[in-house]
Amino acid sequence: MGKRQIKHLKTKYIANNITLYFHPEDHETANIVESACLRSISIIKETWHLSLSKRCCIYIMTSWIRFIFQFAPWYVRIYYVFYYFSWAEHFRKIWPDIGGWTLNYATRTVIGIKSPRLRDIKDINFNIGKIIFTPESDINKHIQHIVCHEMTHAFCASLKLPMWLNEGIAMITVDKFFEKMTVAKKPLEVMSMFSQKNRIAGYKNLIYMKPEEVAYNYLHGYWITRYLMETQPELLMEILSKKINEWVLYSKLTLSLNISQKNFWQDIDNKVTKYFSY
Ligand SMILES: [Zn+2]
Repeated sequence: MGKRQIKHLKTKYIANNITLYFHPEDHETANIVESACLRSISIIKETWHLSLSKRCCIYIMTSWIRFIFQFAPWYVRIYYVFYYFSWAEHFRKIWPDIGGWTLNYATRTVIGIKSPRLRDIKDINFNIGKIIFTPESDINKHIQHIVCHEMTHAFCASLKLPMWLNEGIAMITVDKFFEKMTVAKKPLEVMSMFSQKNRIAGYKNLIYMKPEEVAYNYLHGYWITRYLMETQPELLMEILSKKINEWVLYSKLTLSLNISQKNFWQDIDNKVTKYFSY
């Protein structure tokens, strides 16, 4: 990929290591994506001191199958062909619900932004998103939101963060992009809902969860990450400075927050609720 052209797609070099691919009909969307991308990069660098560790391709996607196949490295494509029936059904199922997507391969990160030609204003506040975020009826702002969220994932890709933190960082970056809170639920509601009926999700078990449970996992991650950003900024920056394994991550958190490893989630939820109730 990189410098080579992809059939029927236009190419735009956005920044060092970042290329945008789009269908000629998505020319206007490409301009919105480009400027949202540049603004996101400067916010991500300034807020989290992160940089891109590998090449990043952004595709304004019109089909999931094209996004999966055309942008994967050749050896992953072979895997996709062999195991087609095990993954295709999953992608087909989630496709109507997603606005953006980041896939992290060894040599590149690939971001898909769904073309607004495939969406109408009614469905941009889709299933899971409408529980998490404040309503947004402006399609351009919606695209900017997705670009900023997914770009943050691309910058965090090499850190292999747990889902709650990875999503929390992305959602906070979006808040900074729009200079307002974009999340619809307050911490008290999130924490009490969460402890009642939700389990901590990793990306692998998301597909077995109901939309509401997925949404509350995102919100849970957002408020914990925001709590860390406000009360333990040095610790958070240290966690983001290099890849560490999860055991080390949770040890650092229990030590700095003075909570027990055994009741980690319960203790951290209590701290977050208490902190934001003032
Ligand atoms: Zn995300």
